Amino acid sequence: MGVRCLRWGRRGCLLLLLLVAFPQTVLADWFNRKAPIMGTRVFVEIWQEDPQRAQTLMQAVMDEMERINQLMSPYIDSAEVAVVNRDAGQKAVQISQELFDLILKANQYSDLSDGAFDITFASVGHKFDYRKHIRPNPLEQKTATELIDYRHLVLDSKARSIAFDKPGMRIDLGGIAKGYAVDRAVALLQAAGVTHGIVTAGGDSRLIGDHRGRPWMLGIRHPRGEEHVITLPLSDSAVSTSGDYERYFEEDGVRFHHIIDPAKGDSARALLSVTVLADHSVDADALSTTVFVLGPEKGLKLVNSLAGVSAILIDKAGKVLYSDDLVDPTMH
Ligand code: AMP
Ligand code: MG
Repeated sequence: MGVRCLRWGRRGCLLLLLLVAFPQTVLADWFNRKAPIMGTRVFVEIWQEDPQRAQTLMQAVMDEMERINQLMSPYIDSAEVAVVNRDAGQKAVQISQELFDLILKANQYSDLSDGAFDITFASVGHKFDYRKHIRPNPLEQKTATELIDYRHLVLDSKARSIAFDKPGMRIDLGGIAKGYAVDRAVALLQAAGVTHGIVTAGGDSRLIGDHRGRPWMLGIRHPRGEEHVITLPLSDSAVSTSGDYERYFEEDGVRFHHIIDPAKGDSARALLSVTVLADHSVDADALSTTVFVLGPEKGLKLVNSLAGVSAILIDKAGKVLYSDDLVDPTMH
């Protein structure tokens, strides 16, 4: 060592010593990757010691997200959800345990919210095309809305099959699948020993640990602007935001957006955005959509009744509302 120190000078020697003493500390770094999956932007960032392993893990996250997309997208003909929508009006369709379980989970949120969250919203939802500014005419809308009711899903857990009680019904797991996928990605990273990281799919994020000694800072954007209205310091948490600005078009000053009130078969309009904090993304995702449909009073009542769940709502006047467990910063 003495000889090498002489040859490399003092600085080189110090680096060598550090590498020997703390090889992981010196080389560890943040690694991130972005990809368009599930019709949204997926982002993963992890703290890793080995750059090659970091790349392998981030690829595994993207592969898992894409696998879930291929299973649950209603737009991919071979996806189980698309096959269900095609055939379940005529006969029971056998599906994977994974999809079956997620449908059961979605239905729990339907029960909890008196049907505000309902994956059969798609019976009318598929008649809207927000990019092309297409919406159903009033008669089509009324007929399709009558098909919405998760209790008309015939689920057979032994046969692992699903059938529609009413032909013409459709399902779409868009309000819960991204959160589910984020949880799966986080489980994969945690099993690989990752202790600091973030996985985001559109409005759904989950944090692994903290940002190495300080919290992650997540912003809630203004529903009508790009700037953040609130920044949340968070660790080890799931955060989901549902907003009426994600997919929409306007007609005569009325905004038609992607969150549908099953009772009306039309966009829910009492709130502009809902952010839910929970332990798992699958719950935060389903709940952000649920609370958006329920509106401020019923929505906050539901959140306040659930342990370990918090919410920040922005109502149609732009006012920020908090669940009981959060301190309103303007009150101090
Ligand atoms: P999010 O951005 O998480 O609120 O999810 C919005 C997505 O949830 C929409 O694009 C639809 O796929 C789906 N969705 C809309 N309305 C409902 C509803 N009432 N119940 C369940 N899912 C819904
Ligand atoms: Mg959601």
